[in-house]
Amino acid sequence: MVRAIVGANWGDEGKGKITDMLAMKSDIIIRYQGGSNAGHTIINNYGKFALHLLPSGVFYNHTTSIIGNGVALNIPFLVKEIDELVSKGVPKPHVLVSDRAQILMPYHILFDEYEEERLGKKSFGSTKSGIAPFYSDKYAKIGFQVSELFDDELLKEKVARVCETKNVLMEHLYHKPAIDQEELLQTLREYREMVAPYVCDVSAYLHQAIKEGKNILLEGQLGSLKDTDHGIYPMVTSSSTLAGYGAIGAGIPPYEIKNITTVVKAYSSAVGAGAFVSEIFGEEADELRRRGGDGGEYGATTGRPRRMGWFDAVASRYGCRIQGATESALTVLDVLGYLDELSICVGYEINGKVTKDFPTTTELNKAKPVYTVLPGWKCEIRGIKKYEDLPENCRKYIEFIEKELETPITMVSNGPGRDEIIYRK
Ligand code: GDP
Repeated sequence: MVRAIVGANWGDEGKGKITDMLAMKSDIIIRYQGGSNAGHTIINNYGKFALHLLPSGVFYNHTTSIIGNGVALNIPFLVKEIDELVSKGVPKPHVLVSDRAQILMPYHILFDEYEEERLGKKSFGSTKSGIAPFYSDKYAKIGFQVSELFDDELLKEKVARVCETKNVLMEHLYHKPAIDQEELLQTLREYREMVAPYVCDVSAYLHQAIKEGKNILLEGQLGSLKDTDHGIYPMVTSSSTLAGYGAIGAGIPPYEIKNITTVVKAYSSAVGAGAFVSEIFGEEADELRRRGGDGGEYGATTGRPRRMGWFDAVASRYGCRIQGATESALTVLDVLGYLDELSICVGYEINGKVTKDFPTTTELNKAKPVYTVLPGWKCEIRGIKKYEDLPENCRKYIEFIEKELETPITMVSNGPGRDEIIYRK
């Protein structure tokens, strides 16, 4: 059975925790898009970890962790991440890397930095991990596939060809030093040595695993609203964050994805620029940011303070729909126990009209939030194991959200730990 765990919002919903938890009963966990540009924070018996490239199932002995062909593969980063786990006492994970994954090149990181610098105030708020230049090159067909590392002649010719155009940009657009071909070739040869132990024909491996009835998890990065096509374009990421893309980014048939679990955060947070209708500011935002997540809402990759907001039912329902959610997990509910009342954004007012449908970005930029206010529960809910034991106002908040989402909430997460979860039905 293949299950996808994906974000319904702007990312940072707590997918890492839910994946880590569900990985206990899984055989294979796959990253199928994105790169090291976002992080999952995971707390378990080995300690606290921020994973960027590895899937969240790496902490178990029985799982295989896969980097699918859809990922932006930063090879030294991957090796460093594996080494770091081992140095912290985690058993060496079983990792496979698709021979069709493409390689994030050192110049992708440079171009990302230089472009943000060039755009100045109009920048995208990129994490500068090279993701946009990477995917641009992939689709312009000048990317490097892992398999190509093993053909030295091809590599030499391609490096020369690619450097020719890249260096025009380096010199004339960014006024930076040119890429040294010999040095780049040497780097790629080093990458070959680093990645060789992990390389695998992943789609063939998964074909067999599906036949054998293995439990497979697809772990999404970021969330629906950062999807290149269906998100808040252009303030999106450069790969599809949707469960549907899991079929492509892992190399499996779409109809094998039987369960799509959307992770929905009990309030809103976002990083980077872009419309954020239910955003809050000032002391109200600072307090939620301080209390949020586990030790505050700051980016796992950049440490940047996240933008904060009330739960946005319009965006989250759309986020579930576009993922094709079959169920959802509501996370970080425990941090809201300090509030006297909670606002939920139930509509967007655009040009004097209220809509419940999530619009395109041009319309979204004009939207003003329409709120419903619910009473708070004013107590700590961590440690509660049964749904019925949650305070009544807390259950009312969950059930209100469930109705708005039009997706059953089957899990409620009331703490960052693996076992801090309430199953509903
Ligand atoms: P991801 O990218 O979707 O995996 O999300 P992140 O890991 O970036 O952000 C989620 C943060 O919330 C992490 O620091 C988690 O440890 C934490 N977290 C996850 N679920 C819960 C929860 O139910 N309660 C609290 N307090 N923190 C949570």
